[in-house]
Amino acid sequence: MRCAFRRPFTARIAAGLVLGGLFLGTAFSSQLSDDFAALESRNLGLPLPGLKRADLRDTFDEGRANGKPHEATDIMAPRGTPVLAIGDGTVTKLFYSRFGGNTVYEFDPLETYCYYYAHLDRYAPGIREGMPVRKGDVLGYVGSTGDARPDAPHLHLAIYRLGPEKHWWQGTAINPYPLLMNILDEQR
Ligand SMILES: [Zn+2]
Repeated sequence: MRCAFRRPFTARIAAGLVLGGLFLGTAFSSQLSDDFAALESRNLGLPLPGLKRADLRDTFDEGRANGKPHEATDIMAPRGTPVLAIGDGTVTKLFYSRFGGNTVYEFDPLETYCYYYAHLDRYAPGIREGMPVRKGDVLGYVGSTGDARPDAPHLHLAIYRLGPEKHWWQGTAINPYPLLMNILDEQR
């Protein structure tokens, strides 16, 4: 008899966990689709000139040697290729980090999102913190600073939804890959 009591109870807990998981999963994916729609409405541009669909690969979920989730799109390109602002905004922070090398953190005009460009060989002349930039402005040049392999220069592009404190170093990563593919589709 004990088993007969236990089983439904266990089943109820299991059902609750499944439903809770579904609810959280749905809330999470609807936030992501809100982000996607919000970023789409910003009419973003490409971070490298002449980018083609074949140049892009979804590297968001790949692991990295430093143990952190990648949460970005890597785009291989020759060293010195200009890196362009993907949207209007403000250069909030120029920062050298061990992993990212020379990096740019650009806030969008509403300070909802941060566009992050890493491994830059160098910054564009005149780029400085606090400076407003327009979509397509040159921020720097592709390189391999930080933990990128010297023989594999690339742009590491990430997009973060900023928290209420608007800290440039904190945010929720949003996959740039589908956004970039959409931009390329619209150009055809
Ligand atoms: Zn990367």
